[in-house]
Amino acid sequence: MEVKISDEFLGTVAPLVVYWIYSGFYVLFGSSEKYRLHSKKEEDDKNLVSKKTVVKGVLLQQAIQAVVAIILFTVTGSDESPTTNGSLSVFDLGRQFFTAMVVLDTWQYFMHRYMHQNKFLYRHIHSQHHRLIVPYAYGALYNHPLEGLLLDTIGGALAFLLSGMSPRASIFFFSFATIKTVDDHCGLWLPGNLFHVFFQNNSAYHDVHHQLYGTKYNYSQPFFNVWDKILGTHMPYTLEKRENGGFEVRPVKVVKDD
Ligand SMILES: [Zn+2]
Ligand SMILES: [Zn+2]
Repeated sequence: MEVKISDEFLGTVAPLVVYWIYSGFYVLFGSSEKYRLHSKKEEDDKNLVSKKTVVKGVLLQQAIQAVVAIILFTVTGSDESPTTNGSLSVFDLGRQFFTAMVVLDTWQYFMHRYMHQNKFLYRHIHSQHHRLIVPYAYGALYNHPLEGLLLDTIGGALAFLLSGMSPRASIFFFSFATIKTVDDHCGLWLPGNLFHVFFQNNSAYHDVHHQLYGTKYNYSQPFFNVWDKILGTHMPYTLEKRENGGFEVRPVKVVKDD
């Protein structure tokens, strides 16, 4: 008997598996103070939620998202076999990936920013993500299920549809987006991390957003920081070596309270 796994199914499930494998590596790196953006003590003192609750929250959210994603793929998919990627050039694939990145970034910037501005949405939905003042890798998708649906699932669906990528290409795109999101929450500044070389929006950038002074800045996610720069919500920072190992992210601007 031949078991056939569809690309749509893989595009949904691969990112979930990639999430736990990639963040598993960071659990190992995070055990040393050397590369941390916050000390382990700070992580325990400041975070408002236990690791166990975070793991359960992420699993619940992934389960809901997987079901909705499969339904969305089924509704939007065509009847023809969509595995004909052979005729696409590398240039076409690159264009689709870039389009999908821009669409996802744009959707997430405005939704994310609105979730901070609308007090009701912040209190009941987005504040869950901000219980991790010191982010760590597998807390990246610790979100209210509704937030996962609005930002990730709908954002992902829009990126998929508007870029015109195939379900097969989407396996790689959604896995890449997942890895990028985990990396942005890893709470570490590791030498040679390619995400830090290629993206100004990285773990230090997003760390600013998770701090109490930073929640009105650095909304951009997960790829670029263009919307923050255009709309004046960009908070530059410096990275300074801490005495006891690791780095500290310091905002460059004075933060006004209003
Ligand atoms: Zn936020
Ligand atoms: Zn975050």
